[in-house]
Amino acid sequence: REPTDPDSSIRATDSDAALARLSAVQKGYLVDPFVRYLVPRAHLQPPRPPLINVGTYVRTACIDKLVDAWLENCAIEGRSGCQILSLGAGSDTRFWRLATGPWKDTISKYIELDFPEITTKKAMAISKSRELSSVLGTPGEVQIDKSGTGLRSPKYHLFGIDLRLPPAHALSTLLASPPASDSTVPLLSPDVPTLLLFECVLVYMTPEASAQLVQWFVDYFSYEDSTSSREPRVLGGIVYEMFGLNDPFGRVMVNNLKARNVSLPGAEPYPTMESLPQRFLQHGFRASHALSLRELRASHLGTTELERISKLEMLDEIEELELVLEHYAITWGAWIDGTGETKADWA
Ligand code: SAM
Repeated sequence: REPTDPDSSIRATDSDAALARLSAVQKGYLVDPFVRYLVPRAHLQPPRPPLINVGTYVRTACIDKLVDAWLENCAIEGRSGCQILSLGAGSDTRFWRLATGPWKDTISKYIELDFPEITTKKAMAISKSRELSSVLGTPGEVQIDKSGTGLRSPKYHLFGIDLRLPPAHALSTLLASPPASDSTVPLLSPDVPTLLLFECVLVYMTPEASAQLVQWFVDYFSYEDSTSSREPRVLGGIVYEMFGLNDPFGRVMVNNLKARNVSLPGAEPYPTMESLPQRFLQHGFRASHALSLRELRASHLGTTELERISKLEMLDEIEELELVLEHYAITWGAWIDGTGETKADWA
């Protein structure tokens, strides 16, 4: 008998996220022409319940707004390019949506990391789909790694990695080294503003492992000597996660996941909204804010959008929706080194 892999249930959460995204697109909440190429047998998948569709919509729309604000800020500050790194990217389609949208020229590099089992499937899905691969470049520019676990193209890069491994070794090898033997610049340049996306991934890791991960980026972007005047180096971060799980409803959520062998070691140290910005502030970020999806739905989506989505499906369980949305939050922040002017509060 094969020994059970304790991480397989964590990886399975990617299918949940992808199926929820597909369902929200099919029901008209979100526009995403790419998701169906990343979900196996997409046309046969049944829709998810309205509550899941609304939750997926609120999360995606709000993270989209934050990413747009970040890119707009990069453009306003006259930066030449902007890098985005998605950690635990799973089957996310954000790269394709951005690369075919108004900010496509602002993004100089987009890197996705996940377990090798997930990135192998994604690399395969990309290479099989003209709709996905043509956005990355010409056929000669899009290359699957020999191992099959990664993919490279001029802007988009995909790597298989366990994010809990000591980052100094694992990330340095991938990000701080030149991507090809004929190049001397590292894949991830500390001189280009970089946005780190942690969309529903840090909760599955211990607080120590996530702290090491964020700290690796801070160290990599820090100037070695701080005496002379230097161009500002900027890191932005967005975390989407479950939180506040100590109340009765939170415990039900935790138990449902436990029944599927998924534990949430990363949620425990952040029991309240006030504690969430610590994810970033403890690493010297200059500003960080957190809001629950309930607050974001109430005050950040706009009445036109709320009216539009209220007509898509009957949703009887408004109280349950509010309870669910109250247990998810988005935290964002900015870290800056250097001496020039730059905005820490970008959204
Ligand atoms: N970010 C994507 C989204 O929002 O659609 C996927 C979210 S899914 C809930 C969590 C993802 O994090 C999965 O793809 C899983 O494989 C990945 N993940 C969790 N722990 C990880 C680790 N230690 N190393 C790499 N990836 C990890």
